[in-house]
Amino acid sequence: MARDSLELSLYPELLLGTNNQAKIREYRSLLTDLDQKLVTLTEQGISVEVDEAGDSLEENARLKAAIIAEKSQMLTLADDSGLEVDALGGEPGRLSARYAGENASDAERIAYLLKRMNGVPREKRAARFRCVIALATPAGKVKVCSGECPGFITLEPRGEYGFGYDPIFYLPELGKTVAELPLEQKNRISHRGQAARKAVKALKSGEL
Ligand code: IMP
Repeated sequence: MARDSLELSLYPELLLGTNNQAKIREYRSLLTDLDQKLVTLTEQGISVEVDEAGDSLEENARLKAAIIAEKSQMLTLADDSGLEVDALGGEPGRLSARYAGENASDAERIAYLLKRMNGVPREKRAARFRCVIALATPAGKVKVCSGECPGFITLEPRGEYGFGYDPIFYLPELGKTVAELPLEQKNRISHRGQAARKAVKALKSGEL
């Protein structure tokens, strides 16, 4: 443990291994109070495409973080996240970003998913967002943290905040979709917020 802490203290920066601007915004608000300064791939001039070839969110998060940490020689955080819909047998899952084709927009993905769920009654529209964060050192050490947020798929989109499937993800206890929640409120309950708080704990304790 002492050696691990020492290794973490060698890294003054934490590289966010994503080009998704919406995720970067969320992480900037979630990963505060760290000893490491947050930096992005663009800021570091690093261009990397990782083929998400794994069978699970965890495998893909590990893969992304390890490859980027190796290439950048920096302490790296990468995530893989997705939406699982019970009525669709867990789809879109790890294919969430590509569900309506490679170049589809968020609006097109939402329209496609709602079409696939046509005729599914309200009580059978349960779903969950899942997020797996991997923290990796260039030396090959990887720590995984995950979070999950349950809810229901609405019949139509509502709300302007957030990204991805947020406008059709309904939180019954709040009576709102995630896209109706300002960033700080989404972060308090979201899958990414839960995983990020565990990652902050690991980074602060040096328990990588
Ligand atoms: P990836 O993690 O970059 O593979 O992308 C996951 C995809 O899942 C995103 O492009 C979104 O479509 C969806 N997704 C992941 N997290 C969220 C979220 O917090 N809100 C809405 N959609 C999300």
